[in-house]
Amino acid sequence: MTPSPTHHPADDTLLRHAAGRLSAGATLVVATHLAGCPHCQLAARLGEAIGGVLLADTAPAAMATDALDRTLARLDTPASIARPPANATDPVPDLAPGVPMPAPLRHVARRPWRWVAPGISRIRLDLAGAAPGEHAYLLRVAPGATLAEHGHRGEEITCVLSGQFRDSTGLYGPGDVAEMDVGQDHQPITEPGAVCICLIATQGRLRMRGTLARLLQPLVGV
Ligand SMILES: [Zn+2]
Repeated sequence: MTPSPTHHPADDTLLRHAAGRLSAGATLVVATHLAGCPHCQLAARLGEAIGGVLLADTAPAAMATDALDRTLARLDTPASIARPPANATDPVPDLAPGVPMPAPLRHVARRPWRWVAPGISRIRLDLAGAAPGEHAYLLRVAPGATLAEHGHRGEEITCVLSGQFRDSTGLYGPGDVAEMDVGQDHQPITEPGAVCICLIATQGRLRMRGTLARLLQPLVGV
């Protein structure tokens, strides 16, 4: 039985998710965490309920005459996460042996792994509605590997799908979420024993530390 996650999204992140205010990539990461976290599922339902109460208590305001038409048109627009697969009968490939594809990723992660560096490969995710400069990808890292130290020009949110990594903020295992903000640096190191696969969404390009990492950044594309 998979242990429950111990690192959860921040309360503010869960509230923004409930209000539909997260970016496309962060929405996918939080949805993936929620799928395996009863604790946050309850918090998310509470957030949605509170939002409903606040709406109910809000004084009615005049709306544009075309508001209903525009809302219905948006409902007809395919969304990245709700988009049905090209062929719903296709078998969903596992991410790795013994690592099933999480349900929120089944329609967006159907590409093969692409080599990035020794011990590291990636699947880039094309999300409808992604903000300019937003990147979402799956990263697969061999056990016991040290990633390049880097900082962030925007928010980064990660959900571990298998294996474990640690950095200066803690140890993260399956289902755990790590959030990094502008100005925070870290250097993830995967734990020995199992391949580590993470779902990551970033805003803006990373600030790579070290000459070699900066030289490789255009090839890595993050
Ligand atoms: Zn949680």
